[in-house]
Amino acid sequence: MAKFQSVDELVEATRPVNPVYCIREDSIETSAAWFKNNFPGNILYAVKANPNEKVLKTLLKNNITDFDTATIEEIRLIKKIAPQAKTYFMHTIKSKESISEAYFKYNVKDFSLDSKDELDKILKATNQAKDLTLYLRIQASNEHAEIDLSKKFGATVYESSSLLRQIKEVANKIGISFHVGSQCMHPISYSKALKDVSSLIKKTGIEPNIINVGGGFPTTYPDMYPQPLINYINEIKKSFAKLNLKSKPALLCEPGRALVAESGSTVVRVELRKKQNLYINDGTYGSLFDAGTPQFIFPTKPIQLKKTFTKRLVPYSFYGPTCDGIDFMKGPFMLPSNIKQGDYIEIGQLGAYGLSLRTKFNGCYSDEIHDVCDKPLMSIYDADENENIRHLFG
Ligand SMILES: *Cc1c(COP(=O)(O)O)cnc(C)c1O
Repeated sequence: MAKFQSVDELVEATRPVNPVYCIREDSIETSAAWFKNNFPGNILYAVKANPNEKVLKTLLKNNITDFDTATIEEIRLIKKIAPQAKTYFMHTIKSKESISEAYFKYNVKDFSLDSKDELDKILKATNQAKDLTLYLRIQASNEHAEIDLSKKFGATVYESSSLLRQIKEVANKIGISFHVGSQCMHPISYSKALKDVSSLIKKTGIEPNIINVGGGFPTTYPDMYPQPLINYINEIKKSFAKLNLKSKPALLCEPGRALVAESGSTVVRVELRKKQNLYINDGTYGSLFDAGTPQFIFPTKPIQLKKTFTKRLVPYSFYGPTCDGIDFMKGPFMLPSNIKQGDYIEIGQLGAYGLSLRTKFNGCYSDEIHDVCDKPLMSIYDADENENIRHLFG
């Protein structure tokens, strides 16, 4: 890993043959500080968004020391890098072996669940431990999210009351959690979910020690303009105050995307142009998974080396390097009309779910990762940055 002042400098110096991933430490510093200053509770970083060691260490350096982990592999990774960090095991379906290892080897006490069978499994795998914090994950509406998690996870209203009562019998501390879906485009999803939490509390008379509002905090893309992040926090604060409980529960959140999306870019090279289709050297089996079927549009910037690009930007689609037809990214990606084979493109907003989704399909895999210090192509923390890209998408 080397450090460059900018992506342009990196490309100039190395002329990479394979895709290169860039990490911006400053951007993580900005997002971590923003959450620290504005979220009224504890912040758990959702490791799956980007488990790169540099990213994790930068978060740790900026006082994000709690981690939302979904697998024993993620727990091992965090404990290796930072033995003192606290990990929470927040996947609702875990193997009994991984629960035992987490509890007995890594001292993990926090587990989430959305079924009676999982509750029984956790108790058995921990030898009926008495010091557990158990989070009931309830189903939340994901109607405003780009990535829907609501069918796979969460107890229904019908199941929640009896599960919460069972948790109360055995847990040291009771948590209630939800996830409004990833890239949640409207803060109202959080207040709706908190209203469901409120009804559950009223119905059971059980007050949780902890409420976990999950992830879902958005970043910005060329065609997606969420409200300012502070509106999300205010919505959470407002609904939290309305709960009106005897003793105030602690609040947790688990952002992945919002903490790291802006920090990462992929630099690709155009290997061939067929009209408005660019065949590039990374794709949906690499860091551009979300540009495929989920059809995210990422911001793009041509890297100006000796060549001058025309000012006129036109829409392109991308094909990735593998032999599969679904290795296609519809876009539109706005780039100069005279772009051609051999040109480099920076694709931004890939710090979340970019690096972590790469595969080795067809032998296409790059692990070339460098630090850069220039600004991200877009930012939800600095809205003025985005106008030059947004106007292209009307
Ligand atoms: C994926 C996930 C997150 C992070 O979601 P983002 O949308 O990236 O913020 C948080 N909590 C859980 C349980 C998750 O599965």
